Amino acid sequence: MLAPGKGLNRILIRGPNWVGDSVLAIPAMKAVRANFPEAEITLLVRPWVAGLFTSAPFIDKVWSEPRPTSLGEWSAITSAIRRGGFDLAILLPNSFESALMVFVGRVPKRVGYGTNGRSWLLTHAVERARESQHQVDYYFRLAMAIADGAGTQSIEIQATREERANARKLLKSEGIPEDAPFLVLNPGAAYGSAKRWSEERFARAGGTLAREMGLRVAIVGSVMERPIGEAIRTELNGNAAVLSGKTSLEVLIGILAESSLMITNDSGPMHMAAALGVPTVAVFGSTDETVTGPYGARTKIVKHDVECSPCMLRECPIDHRCMTLVEAEDVCRAARELMAVHA
Ligand code: SF4
Repeated sequence: MLAPGKGLNRILIRGPNWVGDSVLAIPAMKAVRANFPEAEITLLVRPWVAGLFTSAPFIDKVWSEPRPTSLGEWSAITSAIRRGGFDLAILLPNSFESALMVFVGRVPKRVGYGTNGRSWLLTHAVERARESQHQVDYYFRLAMAIADGAGTQSIEIQATREERANARKLLKSEGIPEDAPFLVLNPGAAYGSAKRWSEERFARAGGTLAREMGLRVAIVGSVMERPIGEAIRTELNGNAAVLSGKTSLEVLIGILAESSLMITNDSGPMHMAAALGVPTVAVFGSTDETVTGPYGARTKIVKHDVECSPCMLRECPIDHRCMTLVEAEDVCRAARELMAVHA
């Protein structure tokens, strides 16, 4: 354990590279804040993740850097780390490169899991738990290894007034009037098609729930996923706003925070919605919900047990039964139960 306040005034947290993992690391970051209340905490992350933390009260500075593509770019980052005068670096990714970077950057105390042959680069190499853990617990355990136990596993985040206002502006321009309640469909998954429930069933479930609950429908996703959003809109006879590719991370936070319900695949936005306290129904198949399931009380997982799950593959090599066996009505039932509990 590192004694809080003992010369640890400047802390560098190297954040995970993906949105979902970054959300799941929030309790660990909050624990670092709770244990080092006087320290200046800088979070080093990729640009596509930075928007999650711009108004986070547990981080003082967000430092965003794209993945270096040359030795020169890599050296520029290590030089900046050296100039930053950090006393402690906490590495949430398991990569060898993240440990090498703070070693070369001469951060005197370097904490991370002793994975990928990097223990010699760390001053505090933490052993991984033997049993399988949820990713929230995995990151939190690392924070606890250097703390005195202060901190709770709260993943909760809040949207700012500006994020909500910008979200409403976009929704209005896409046909959803101000103050109209709406549900969000998130039918994509950057990891690969194995995680995707069919667009027809998203449309059926979204349409049914929207009618029953008096909600509009907004579809989110990346620009690459826009054809999926358009196909769902067609299935819904045009009664949906397709926002795919039109949202920054900050606007997406605002949209999710303003929504009444989220129906989603296993993805980064799923974790964001759960952290924002939005009732979230997630369809799982190829991945392991005990490790990367949405975290929080207002969530429900819909999954059909099949022998090959979890396979963790990007594309299904067989008939995608883990997803085709999940009916639209299974998702509707889960959403009704969730909404009834949290009414
Ligand atoms: S192999 Fe099994 S678990 Fe994996 S995507 Fe295909 S059906 Fe789903």
